[in-house]
Amino acid sequence: MGAAFKDVTPARDPLGTLAETLWRPMGVEGVYGRTGAYEAIVEKLAVFISRQRDPRAEVMRFPPVMSRGDLEKNGYLKSFPNLLGCVCALHGSEADIRAAAAWAEQGGDWTQALSSADLVLTPAACYPIYPIAAARGPAPRGGYAFDVAADCFRHEPSQDIDRLQSFRMREYVCIGSADEVSAFRERWIERAKGMADELGLPYSVAPASDPFFGRTGQMMAVAQIQQALKFELLIPVRAEDSPTACMSFNYHRDHFGVTWGLRDHAGAVAHTGCIAFGMDRLAVALFRTHGVHPAQWPARVKEALKL
Ligand code: AMP
Ligand code: ZN
Repeated sequence: MGAAFKDVTPARDPLGTLAETLWRPMGVEGVYGRTGAYEAIVEKLAVFISRQRDPRAEVMRFPPVMSRGDLEKNGYLKSFPNLLGCVCALHGSEADIRAAAAWAEQGGDWTQALSSADLVLTPAACYPIYPIAAARGPAPRGGYAFDVAADCFRHEPSQDIDRLQSFRMREYVCIGSADEVSAFRERWIERAKGMADELGLPYSVAPASDPFFGRTGQMMAVAQIQQALKFELLIPVRAEDSPTACMSFNYHRDHFGVTWGLRDHAGAVAHTGCIAFGMDRLAVALFRTHGVHPAQWPARVKEALKL
């Protein structure tokens, strides 16, 4: 194994060679090149998830970067400033940029010449959809339904096979009245359990909280659990006794509705919710559960994934 995986202990990679089969190190923790065998399963998984899509849902795919201003407006810096990655570039005149590049040639720290661009790395697939939906006016009865996905970044370097800095997220999003969003989430928790059954993955569903930053963040996390705003579908990936959140079911109440001026069909401030599928975690969970040879996976799993 290469640099990034030299220190992986058996406890962190329970199958020992799992990461070696799926990924190639790229010299940074939690950032990997993906093998064809791994990517084939991610693609099949994406098709499997698409088959469950609400027929009304509008499909949209987002790039790995998004507007910095929009993410700031969402309050991301209040909740997760530690996880955010910001795009920087060399700005200024040709002479300024040439000087920074020349500095690098001489072994200097050219990064000091960088300044932030108006982009951040997308930290979750649903953030860009709210301003787009708001621009369309009030949601129809039943709510807006979207199918979104993005390559996401979170600054949480780790050697654990279930904690990446760069990973794929797929989401179903509902924008509508409180009742519509609650019903959407309830429906999806049941549907997601059925999907995990079809994939032969052992799971539990439990209340959860987001990793809000700092001491005030701990209070926000407690409130989130008390108000049952987040549930996760957990699958043993890295350790049996500490299963990994592979899907999450989030109710944001009117947070994005207030921020973006979203309206429900009756003209009230819209509520929003999202169902997130961690594509990389689900793919790793499949290999971890059924072994590194998809040809030998149980027949019903192969059938579900159309392998
Ligand atoms: P969250 O917004 O934290 O609920 O994340 C949505 C989904 O993305 C989770 O259910 C995970 O499956 C996945 N995910 C979150 N963080 C990571 C990470 N660091 N590495 C891989 N997948 C992740
Ligand atoms: Zn979301």
